[in-house]
Amino acid sequence: MSSGNHEPISDKDISADKNGTNRQEWNWHPDLPITNNPLFEMPWKMAAIWAYHRDTWLRLSEVSFFLLLAIMSFYMLQPVMPAKGDTSNIGWLVALYAINLGLVGLVAGGLHWFLYIRKGQGTKRKYVTSFGHKGGGRFNFGRQVYDNKFWTLASGVSFWTLYQAIILWRLNNGDAHYIGWNDNPALFSLIIFLTGSWIAFHFYWGHRFLHVGPVYKWVHALHHRNVNVGPWSGISMHPVEHAIYFSSVFIHLFVPSHPIHVFFHMYMLGLSAIIGHSGFHALFIANKERVLLGHFHHQLHHRYFECNYGSVDFPLDRWFGTFHDGSQEARISLKNRLKK
Ligand SMILES: [Zn+2]
Ligand SMILES: [Zn+2]
Repeated sequence: MSSGNHEPISDKDISADKNGTNRQEWNWHPDLPITNNPLFEMPWKMAAIWAYHRDTWLRLSEVSFFLLLAIMSFYMLQPVMPAKGDTSNIGWLVALYAINLGLVGLVAGGLHWFLYIRKGQGTKRKYVTSFGHKGGGRFNFGRQVYDNKFWTLASGVSFWTLYQAIILWRLNNGDAHYIGWNDNPALFSLIIFLTGSWIAFHFYWGHRFLHVGPVYKWVHALHHRNVNVGPWSGISMHPVEHAIYFSSVFIHLFVPSHPIHVFFHMYMLGLSAIIGHSGFHALFIANKERVLLGHFHHQLHHRYFECNYGSVDFPLDRWFGTFHDGSQEARISLKNRLKK
């Protein structure tokens, strides 16, 4: 499923050191090979499954942060939500748009400022040494960061808010399957727990479609202008890609849901992409590694294109032979696959 528009992989890229990794390729990389969510690896290793979910849900991670943020956002929006059936009050839409714009500005703007302008941790845990693309030939407005900000703010936050508003409005009016915590705490929790895997499943298929020749050329190539990614690259996408990418949230029209599920889902799409594209694996504050940032699985996708269409949450890449675990063997097998 090659678009034919990608940089060829040279033999130099395949040469590796004795550990099976290419020193020139990465400034820093996590332990290789990278692995998937151990819940889907057979036979089950209970210690690995526990560690994965403890680090995701019980420690400061992007997922636990999004859950807290979703709960806060729900209570922030409540005072301006109209009464059931009241369609004249659209102030809540403005509030929702402002929340989303503010969060994107804080997360993308904050990470870009700290990591790329202030260079607050130098190249510590940075996947590649250079800070973004020099020169702006292929970017709108002649510069990567202007291009990325434009597509993120003009199209990204608009689709995000529009989709979220449609579902919140339907939940508020009792058209969808509303569920409160007290109705069924186990189901309420299960929906939160499964959100990441559903997003990974949806993302994989949407993303594979975006890599089909003409679709890649006219739509997805805009996102792939960024080989060396930064926080503003995360949801810098063509509007058609935004329409596809954010559409996983419509699942909440069909499964029992609460607005908190919808907020959480949107942060797992929008904010997670921003953090995952930051180009740094972890954030250091006061010389200590505080929280994981970059998604190396997706960094490999930006480097090699025709691999890792999904995420580690749900191992479709492994099942369908498109998984790149960062190892020399994976590089060679990708090269052979592309030759075919
Ligand atoms: Zn990307
Ligand atoms: Zn892609």
